[in-house]
Amino acid sequence: MKIKKGDEVKLVSGKDKNKTGKVIKVFPKEGSMLVEGLNMFKKHSRAREAGKKGETIIIPKPVKGSIARLICPSCRKITRVGYKLEADIKVRICKKCHKTL
Ligand SMILES: [Zn+2]
Repeated sequence: MKIKKGDEVKLVSGKDKNKTGKVIKVFPKEGSMLVEGLNMFKKHSRAREAGKKGETIIIPKPVKGSIARLICPSCRKITRVGYKLEADIKVRICKKCHKTL
């Protein structure tokens, strides 16, 4: 996957369409990622003891990489990831402004 932890992405589909957030975890096998503050779902946990109410917790669900677009930190545009060699090390570059990501 071209998107890494720490990248800022914009979602182009789903319930948080057009919102942006920071990637906090990637799941390369699933091709998905967790984005801070996005794709949050309420989950009810059952009461463990009788007489107590269950809690509602809000948890983020992974979003598919196919609906996340990388935002370039330099030009602030939605971009694609390119690669170039810099001192024999492959670095990611923004295809729009060609700055390293
Ligand atoms: Zn750029």
